[in-house]
Amino acid sequence: MTYVLGLTGGIASGKSTVSQIFKQLDVPIIDADQIAREVVLPGTKGLELIKDAFGQNVIDQNGRLDRKALGSIIFQDQKKREQLNGLLHPLILNRISYLTDELKRDGHPLIVLDIPLLYEINFEKELDGVMVVYVSEETQLERLMKREGIEEKEARRKIETQMSLVQKAEKADYVINNNGSLEKTTGQVKQWYGQHAYQ
Ligand code: ADP
Repeated sequence: MTYVLGLTGGIASGKSTVSQIFKQLDVPIIDADQIAREVVLPGTKGLELIKDAFGQNVIDQNGRLDRKALGSIIFQDQKKREQLNGLLHPLILNRISYLTDELKRDGHPLIVLDIPLLYEINFEKELDGVMVVYVSEETQLERLMKREGIEEKEARRKIETQMSLVQKAEKADYVINNNGSLEKTTGQVKQWYGQHAYQ
């Protein structure tokens, strides 16, 4: 039996960091952000659908998706944002399901699905368990500002558009507290892995 663990958190809470730790433990990771980029590469059905819905203006000279142009269309238009999600989510979810099945067939005892908006799209029902990477709002703000080189106001705005980390942690099956050092976080992940010895 394969255990499918969803990994989520908030912006700059440390999902990539924890995903990296799982990778070091040789656990296969499916990265939803990466898939979201793959399904709109030139030549894909995803890019074709976006062009049909939003026009040639969202394709750049090299035939790639012009994220800036698309962003400016959907930025303040909730209907268009929903329309875009409606086009892309099924493609992304199909690909996730395909890759998951493939890894299950290969007999992996544990698979980690790194999905930033896991709770926002109610994906928990597809999973055996969910791990939330939690940090305090202060730490989140600090790390986000540092990573992206942005001002506090912009960082706060980015954080506020997401479901709160406290809420996500309450729903989670497992919480990794990433407020401390990288060593402390690594210790928690290794401990979880050891206790759930799906090997
Ligand atoms: P996410 O993938 O959730 O957006 P990241 O894993 O990229 O978050 O972490 C956000 C930022 O904080 C990165 O710059 C990362 O290097 C840093 N970071 C993550 N965990 C720690 C930690 N325990 N101590 C110090 N810095 C950290």
